[in-house]
Amino acid sequence: MKFERLPTPCYVVDESLLEKNLKILQGVKERTGCKILLAQKAFSMFATYPLISEYLDGATASGLYEARLGYEEMGKENHVFSPAFREDEIDEMIEICDHFVLNSFSQLEKFGEKIRAAGKSVGLRVNPECSTQSDHAMYDPCARGSRFGITLKNFRPEMLKGVSGLHFHTLCEQNADALAQTLDAFEEKFGEWLPQMEWVNFGGGHHITREDYDIELLESCIKRIQEKYDVEVYLEPGEAIALNAGYLVTTVLDFIDNDIDIAILDTSATCHMPDVLEVPYRPPLIGSGQPQEKAYTYRLGGPTCLTGDVIGDYSFDEPLKSGDRLIFGDMAIYSMVKNNTFNGMALPAIALQDRKGDCHIIKQFGYEDFKGRLS
Ligand SMILES: *Cc1c(COP(=O)(O)O)cnc(C)c1O
Repeated sequence: MKFERLPTPCYVVDESLLEKNLKILQGVKERTGCKILLAQKAFSMFATYPLISEYLDGATASGLYEARLGYEEMGKENHVFSPAFREDEIDEMIEICDHFVLNSFSQLEKFGEKIRAAGKSVGLRVNPECSTQSDHAMYDPCARGSRFGITLKNFRPEMLKGVSGLHFHTLCEQNADALAQTLDAFEEKFGEWLPQMEWVNFGGGHHITREDYDIELLESCIKRIQEKYDVEVYLEPGEAIALNAGYLVTTVLDFIDNDIDIAILDTSATCHMPDVLEVPYRPPLIGSGQPQEKAYTYRLGGPTCLTGDVIGDYSFDEPLKSGDRLIFGDMAIYSMVKNNTFNGMALPAIALQDRKGDCHIIKQFGYEDFKGRLS
């Protein structure tokens, strides 16, 4: 099917763009010997897992369902972190996961022995207490009062027997300079115990596939830690894997005039791109400009009854018409994993554009998907 024929709203992931990212990550792996996992929280389009698994070492999860998805659809290394694991899920997780990252020493006391007895690897998430970003406390696991990772104050070296890895995840959409800074804090606080570890996981938030990312610095960070402590280094980016690798295609339904020109689309910020409101941010829209930059400016709004369901103000060279199709960019990550059927909105279809440019609808949703999660 041609891109122009896809039903809307529709997420379209471009296989070549995804593969372009995967090749960059493969380069990092080959030059350093590190391992890279897909953090499924950002991108769980499992139809692409066969492709991803050709390049990466496996997947990481934040709970049972993601872990199951990684186990069933990726079938390689399967890591899991949770702020707190559950007694009633741990046995199933032990069956399907090979690396566990625990968030506290009480979790280690509760589950460590059981995990180890099954021959699985146990690690601890630490908090290096090194904030490298100031704008988004919501995305800063080192922010004051964060529930993520053991701080040095609570670290209990006498309990490390059987612990084979340390994990930190402190970054969000950041470059390698922030990693280097974090590593300094991590080593200063926890370096003493690294020689007894088998692996160190640098978490996610590394924007490796972004144009201006300093890959050389990333690689020197990885190599330094590997050589100094004789450990295996893991990275578990989410965004970087599918960054700029997908679109959300939508159709203009109608117009409202209320001081400004407003276009109503068949896609919703709050349902289909919730990060636009939550982060918040302005998604790229192909062929558009900033407000007033081009001749015709519109506020683009969604079809829900939430007043704030507004994607943003964009300008165009020509007036928009009913039936026009608009294409939002960078819509593979944190989009389909976060969408919802609020207000009875239909979920966008999910399509894949293959290397030849042909589009294939992988999945469509309907009324039952709305009704099925209510009672
Ligand atoms: C969210 C998350 C990731 C992935 O983060 P990105 O910003 O998408 O790269 C990796 N590890 C953990 C523990 C996470 O919570």
